[in-house]
Order: sequence, then C-alpha cells, then structure tokens
Amino acid sequence: MASKASGTQSMESTATGAKRKSNDVGWEYCFCPDSTNLDKVQCILCGKICSGRVYRIKQHIAHVTGNVSPCPKSTKADQLKCRDALNEAKIKKKGKHEYDEALRAEARCGSVTDESTIDVDELEGSLGSMRPPNVAEIKIRRLLSLNN
Ligand SMILES: [Zn+2]
Repeated sequence: MASKASGTQSMESTATGAKRKSNDVGWEYCFCPDSTNLDKVQCILCGKICSGRVYRIKQHIAHVTGNVSPCPKSTKADQLKCRDALNEAKIKKKGKHEYDEALRAEARCGSVTDESTIDVDELEGSLGSMRPPNVAEIKIRRLLSLNN
C-alpha cells in the first residue's frame, strides 16, 4: 500500500507536466530536447538550452533578466507576448489568493446571516417540505409571535 501511495505522487507530477505543456505560450518558443529531463527546454529561436522549464524560456524570450540571459532573436512582439504570459501567471496566482479570501469572507458573512434567520429555517424543516409553504409560513409567523 505504501508503494501505491508513492506511485500516486509520481502520477500527479506527470499530470502537471502534461498540463504544463498544453496551452502555455512559452511552448511556442521552446521544446524539450531531452525527454528524460522535462526541466530542460531549448529555445527554438536561438537554440539556447535552459533548465528552468517553460517559465524560464518565457523570461528568456521576454527579456526578463535576472534568472536567464535574454534571447537575442526574439522580436518585440515575442517579448510582449511572453511578458504578458508572465504577468498573467502572476495575476492568476494573486487572484486565486484574493478569490480564496473573498470566499472565506463570504462564508463568515453567510454564517452571520444564518444566525439571524436560523429559527425560520429550523421551523420550516420541522414542519416538513410536504406541506404547502403558506401553511408553514403561517405557523412560523404564529410561533415567532409567540416568541415575541
Ligand atoms: Zn532564445
């Protein structure tokens, strides 16, 4: 069973590898010269081999220096295209975080709203969904007025 678990892990990394190759702009500018090392990618414009996957190639094409030398053969359009892709990835990463935060905030708000209406919800549930809603509503109102 333990060996099966580790097998699942390697399956996952293969899955992300396949996904990575599907629709990334960077793959328009590079390929994997070594199928045994998918981290290694080669620029199709200048032939430079990078070992930082497609992300590094995008930096190379976009002339985003720091991690890799800029591609001497990429055009302005190529640079902008890859720079956009890099920015998009950054925004997506940030956006996902903000989205999670928003969901969490919404959940907090939701629970507060639930607390104020929880009596009605519970009464509706206890009366059963078989009865017409009007009857349930009347009973709830009656019960609520009793509470008051
Ligand atoms: Zn290049």
